[in-house]
Amino acid sequence: MRNQAQAAGLNDVVVVNTCAVTAEAEKQARQEIRKIRRWKPDARIIATGCAVQIDPDSWANLPEIDGIIGNQDKLTSTPWTALSQAIADGQPAALTISSIMEAEKVASHMLEGFDDHTRGFLQVQQGCDHRCTFCIIPFGRGKSRSVPFDSVISAVRKMVSGGTREIVLSGIDITSWGQDLPEQPRLGQLVLAILDNVPELPRLRLSSLDPAEPDHYLMTALETHARLMPHLHLSVQHGDDLILKRMKRRHLARDVLRFCKEARRRRPDVVFGADLIAGFPTETEAAHESSMNLITEAGLTHLHIFGYSARTGTPAALMPQIDRSLIKQRVSALRQSGDEQLTRHLKRRVGTADMLLLEKGNKGYLSGYEKAQLISSDTQELRAGDLLAVNILSAANGVVQVTPLCGETVSAVY
Ligand code: SF4
Repeated sequence: MRNQAQAAGLNDVVVVNTCAVTAEAEKQARQEIRKIRRWKPDARIIATGCAVQIDPDSWANLPEIDGIIGNQDKLTSTPWTALSQAIADGQPAALTISSIMEAEKVASHMLEGFDDHTRGFLQVQQGCDHRCTFCIIPFGRGKSRSVPFDSVISAVRKMVSGGTREIVLSGIDITSWGQDLPEQPRLGQLVLAILDNVPELPRLRLSSLDPAEPDHYLMTALETHARLMPHLHLSVQHGDDLILKRMKRRHLARDVLRFCKEARRRRPDVVFGADLIAGFPTETEAAHESSMNLITEAGLTHLHIFGYSARTGTPAALMPQIDRSLIKQRVSALRQSGDEQLTRHLKRRVGTADMLLLEKGNKGYLSGYEKAQLISSDTQELRAGDLLAVNILSAANGVVQVTPLCGETVSAVY
């Protein structure tokens, strides 16, 4: 987006990429825009992203905004040129929003995340064909579309040659990767192809997975390839079957348990993260307890807890809502349970060895996505991007302290 703005002659521009996943995210984007206007009174402020795509008029009407661009348009040159011209002509809030539902491909610009970073995100899929009743995302991102094998493999190679040591495959619904491609390959086949074809990639990680769709290729990759990190984040959302049905999710609580059990059987050191929503409409105390129980029964350790917030235009916004203060209480109960699970997990890891991918400030992540701080008297020789064999000394406040395992090589631990 920076390149497109510059090429169109838009200088002194601030682009705000809005998020629509919760009402809070939208509120923060509006606050940010007001702050930017106070900070840079003469800058051109351009808003884009999902919130703008879903409700362009309300963003175009903000007095601080000079222009808006849609999600599919923001990575192509024509809308930026048009916007630049409109601004030059003194037209207020030029509109460039095309229908996201007609988007057929993932923009090639979005393939590579940050290829000069130690860890990089590679977007292999965009959009979503599901319609969970609480979710506005498909209206901002369009239908599911996948990046083909060859393009992914060459992007992985390019990122690795640029210094990326760990790639995180990302997308809105990566479990659906391949469904729009010939022969409908599964995500696990893509994972195996990356690991087999790019042996110089030290670490591959996956972003959020849907437990509704078992993928035996993925389980095989987990079992046979140590370079696939033993950390799976699941889009669980709730632990109560009736709420899951009202959410129009495609799994039940037992599917989450089955998924975790099978993954652990294949890879005993695997850890699980999960997204959970507290306070979905009609959620009873018993339903909330089911979410609490699922955390412990499935052994979920890396949790993202969201308080439900109604999104206009979604079916759940029309269901009987529950009290905000009750939602807050349930959010904090789930977070506390998640913190306890994480603390227990980190304590269990003390005394074991693992690989640390070092980032700036002697920090980094272990293979199970545990945050780590390197304690060493001699870190002069070490640089961000180094993959070190470490011993885990202690754990506190969600972080483990580690020290180099002298003389050990990567292959001694993996
Ligand atoms: S799977 Fe459901 S929650 Fe996830 S993006 Fe699609 S509609 Fe939203």
